[in-house]
Amino acid sequence: MDRKIETKSLHEGWKPGRGEPRQLPIYQSTTFKYNTSDEMGQLFDLEAEGYFYTRLQNPTNDAVAAKICSLEGGVAAMLTSSGQAANFFAIFNICEAGDHFISSSAIYGGTYNLFNVTMKKMGIECTFVDQDLPAEELKKYFKPNTKAVFGETITNPTLAVLDLEKFAELAHSHGVPLIVDNTFATPVNCRPFEWGVDIVTHSTTKYMDGHAVGVGGCIVDSGNFDWLKYAERFPGLTTPDESYHGLIYAEKFGKAAYITKATVQLMRDLGSIQSPQNAFYLNIGLETLPIRMERHCRNALETAKFLENHEKIAWVNYPELESSKYYSLAKKYLPNGSCGVVSFAIKGGRDESIRFMDKLELASIVTHVADSKTCILHPASHTHRQLTYEQLKEAGIAPDLIRLSVGLENIEDIIADLKQALDQI
Ligand SMILES: *Cc1c(COP(=O)(O)O)cnc(C)c1O
Repeated sequence: MDRKIETKSLHEGWKPGRGEPRQLPIYQSTTFKYNTSDEMGQLFDLEAEGYFYTRLQNPTNDAVAAKICSLEGGVAAMLTSSGQAANFFAIFNICEAGDHFISSSAIYGGTYNLFNVTMKKMGIECTFVDQDLPAEELKKYFKPNTKAVFGETITNPTLAVLDLEKFAELAHSHGVPLIVDNTFATPVNCRPFEWGVDIVTHSTTKYMDGHAVGVGGCIVDSGNFDWLKYAERFPGLTTPDESYHGLIYAEKFGKAAYITKATVQLMRDLGSIQSPQNAFYLNIGLETLPIRMERHCRNALETAKFLENHEKIAWVNYPELESSKYYSLAKKYLPNGSCGVVSFAIKGGRDESIRFMDKLELASIVTHVADSKTCILHPASHTHRQLTYEQLKEAGIAPDLIRLSVGLENIEDIIADLKQALDQI
């Protein structure tokens, strides 16, 4: 039976049998025991299923990945040690030296650096595009060696909403998958697969964990992209892997091919697995994700309205405000709410913004976003400090942009804090 998301968040993944622990146990073990040498050999040949070494797979992680997979409506998923690892693996699983991919330029600063600096050193080229351009314009960026298109459902920190259908059609008409980082919306507010997205990634560090306790990531595959149809473009999935006696992922694993390859090849070689302990914390966070998202969104909308009407505020961006450029896309893709993050600027620019932040008492200045306690950050001075003025502009980050992550506190306290700080500048 396909249950509702609140129920799935509590019950998917770990399904205990008689006498087993009600809560998902932490399998705190690097390794797993077998009876014969041959049994173990079969695991290494991928001829049999089973756990053998936690660098590749662990039962606690798999239960949590299965829960996220169910929330997103995918066919296979894996946890990674961070959101960065998730986005790196998602691309590197289908791109190698000499390949190219296209990404929205409005993405999270850490991902921008990964694509623009580190992956470039590996010989993988990324073209950054303005995601609001019409499809006709965006088509021009495809090349014969383009292997994927990447964006974020709601961008961090500019809160641009990606036109998922436009991007899915664009990617598919060029025979490549669309990969979307769904961290800010979470599957509670948007399930990108329903709009044609092929692969979803998450920084589980944010709302999924929800309590700022563990860094982690996740990759989910919809199973919908037909790798064999474009076999020449994706040799990693459609030609023999010599490190597994010539096995062909797309033939042997069908819809699970992409995640299986990322697990048994990339995780084996690069080792970025989430610790079972962190997966356990993540699972506890996931149990309450739907009710937390509802409150985050309600508090954020009220906060955005308060800021919009305040005389000392220069501008506010929140997808659910009618004044937002992304209001109609938000209505379409995020009908039940967007996220708890609001961006805005103080009249008087960068210096006044920093003075305002220093006066806050409840909202804390931290390099974090999307957890239960209200926090605030000035991207141009913090997360995006390494970007040049030109790159900031390309990423849509105004030098005065303040990112406010609205938490689960009582809304009156959140607004009172903002008000007292505004009164002092
Ligand atoms: C934070 C974040 C990341 C990176 O995740 P980490 O868990 O910090 O590695 C990637 N994408 C988005 C949208 C994020 O907000």
